[in-house]
Amino acid sequence: MSTLFEFLPIGAYCTSPTGAVLRANTALVRMNGYDTEAQWLEAINTNSDSWYVDPTRRKELRELLDRDNAIINFVSEVQSPRRSGAFWVRESAHAVRDADGTLLYYEGTVEDITAAHLAQLALTQNEERWKLALESTGDGVWDWYVQTGVEFYSRRCKEIYGFAEEEIADRSDALDGRTHPDDVAQMQRDREAHFKGETETYTNEHRVLCKDGTWKWVLTRGMVISRDAHGVPLRMIGTHTDISDRKSAQSLIWKQAHFDTLTGLPNRRMLRERLDNAMRRCQQSKKKLAVLFIDLDHFKEVNDTLGHDNGDRLLVQAAQRILECVGANDTVARMGGDEFTVVLCDAQSHDQVEAILHNILARLANTFVLGAEHVFVSASIGVAIYPLHTTQGEELLKQADQALYVAKGAGRNRFSFYTPALQEAALLRARLAADLRLALPQQQFALVYQPIVHLTSGRVHKAEALLRWQHPQRGMVSPAQFIPIAESTGLILAIGEWVFQQAARQVALWRQRFGEDFQISVNKSPVQFHRQDTSQQAWSTQLQSMGLDGTSIAVEITEGLLLDTNEDVRQQLDTLRAADIAISLDDFGTGYSSLTYLQKIEIDFIKIDQSFVRNLKPASTDLALCRAIILLAHDLGMQVVAEGVETGEQRDLLMAAGCDFGQGYWFARPLGVEAFENFMGS
Ligand code: C2E
Ligand code: CA
Ligand code: CA
Repeated sequence: MSTLFEFLPIGAYCTSPTGAVLRANTALVRMNGYDTEAQWLEAINTNSDSWYVDPTRRKELRELLDRDNAIINFVSEVQSPRRSGAFWVRESAHAVRDADGTLLYYEGTVEDITAAHLAQLALTQNEERWKLALESTGDGVWDWYVQTGVEFYSRRCKEIYGFAEEEIADRSDALDGRTHPDDVAQMQRDREAHFKGETETYTNEHRVLCKDGTWKWVLTRGMVISRDAHGVPLRMIGTHTDISDRKSAQSLIWKQAHFDTLTGLPNRRMLRERLDNAMRRCQQSKKKLAVLFIDLDHFKEVNDTLGHDNGDRLLVQAAQRILECVGANDTVARMGGDEFTVVLCDAQSHDQVEAILHNILARLANTFVLGAEHVFVSASIGVAIYPLHTTQGEELLKQADQALYVAKGAGRNRFSFYTPALQEAALLRARLAADLRLALPQQQFALVYQPIVHLTSGRVHKAEALLRWQHPQRGMVSPAQFIPIAESTGLILAIGEWVFQQAARQVALWRQRFGEDFQISVNKSPVQFHRQDTSQQAWSTQLQSMGLDGTSIAVEITEGLLLDTNEDVRQQLDTLRAADIAISLDDFGTGYSSLTYLQKIEIDFIKIDQSFVRNLKPASTDLALCRAIILLAHDLGMQVVAEGVETGEQRDLLMAAGCDFGQGYWFARPLGVEAFENFMGS
């Protein structure tokens, strides 16, 4: 035998035509755990069949050799008495014949491929296990041979879309072709990025057309697992996860976060997005847009008297009406409560914007039918224009809000455009709010007293206490200006207490001077009722401790307070009356003008608002109105004070109408203590 045979690094052998091993080289002997050729030859030739773990393999090998004269890469598991454990070999062999074709012997090679074989086995088992594991999570698995377009889908992968095993071909376009057209481009981009190695794994969310014609959201994840020498992807494996539930939850959450659930309108956040987009478009097209702040007047009353369900119904109808007044590209949003915001995308023409404003006001002023109830509300609108007033979104909203404040202040049911002066007014309010904190500790407040005159006798045994703020720099600031600020900051609570104490001290003095029935009325803000429910009790105790009885003080309240006829407010009013403190209904006729509450709550005086008194003429509607109020009040056992009496004629007409008291410049202006005492002396 040649030296090649002997030194071949792989096993080599030679057998007789019957299969007896004649020669084995060192590699083969060692492979089987033997030291010498003779030892192994003896072992193998004693029991040849037992070399194969599966004895039939030897038979198979021999049959192949007989048939083909050769075998190549015949892999089998073998064993040897000198080796622990089976091992895997790859055999190749061929028959050697003479010129006549007579079989002389067989020669062959044997390679120990155990390591490689086990690795391969583990790999396939792994892959199987891996695919199985993926499937068990409910995901579908795909296995794509990128260059050939062959793609295998697991059963679950087809099932997700409602297909049976045989209904989807083993081709990549079988499912890819069902991708939603809007999602195709992104899917390709994601895939390409992974192919190029830019992403470690491929992930993409897209919709797939199901068998039943519906779309299903899936998350697909995958990875190229083999590439050719140039890095071209050959095979990619991945999964499909059904994410329809997550997607619909997401869209629900998105809706929740961007839309108002009651009206279905965009909410504040969504409005900001829309406004920013609209402004960007306007900037490009050099156009104007308008932001409208709409606030329903008297909505709170509806809510309080007819209940929240009806309030909600009204809001839905109001939203609908506003929507009908604007274009398809405009945005109507609900900011919360009874506030709506509109973005009018085209505000080129001022007239056109005004026309829309008038339309909205008119539509909202129409009757709202809420079940059996017919309700009237109106609206106030503030308007700011981009880019005329500002180019900042947040600022634009603020300006519209400031304009709204003005529209409301001007008497509601109207609109108001932002002007730079409003900005100043807002600034002033902010400054006053800061200064107002110092007013009480620095003793900048004083009370003035306006006589309330008994008309028939001309006697004065009542006065209204009115607050004055002597601002160190600005001089006298009107209560009409600072009371709303005090209310919104809560300072009104402390201020209100101070007013009461001053008035109580004053009435104690004046009862001694001007008679035991003297009474001072103080104005009490609704905020004081809503935020401080113990003070009624405290007021009567304070009066007692000063030796005064309740009749020395009257509390002036506004109609607005009575509209929130909540139990709490009513109890507070009852507590006051139980202490004999009088209740006076201020500014009568300007508010909601519902007389029903007059029967529910005991009131001592009604004060007819000065706006009715101002235009009193013989045979005027206002006179008729005053007469009616006086009649009604007397019927209910109340007395009437007419405010803002400025002329003798007004006084005469009121007296003739049966009015009990008059208050106004014609008698006297609000006076300081000394001036008041002089007035009383004259
Ligand atoms: P009000 O309670 O309706 O007070 C009457 C207002 O009419 C007073 O204005 C008074 O000066 C004014 N007035 C009286 N007679 C006439 C007249 O003949 N013609 C005209 N044109 N006006 C007349 P004032 O003092 O500026 O107070 C404005 C408002 O500020 C008050 O309206 C009241 O709502 C509020 N206010 C004043 N003091 C207090 C207070 O101590 N507490 C609270 N919560 N509000 C107060
Ligand atoms: Ca008053
Ligand atoms: Ca008044």
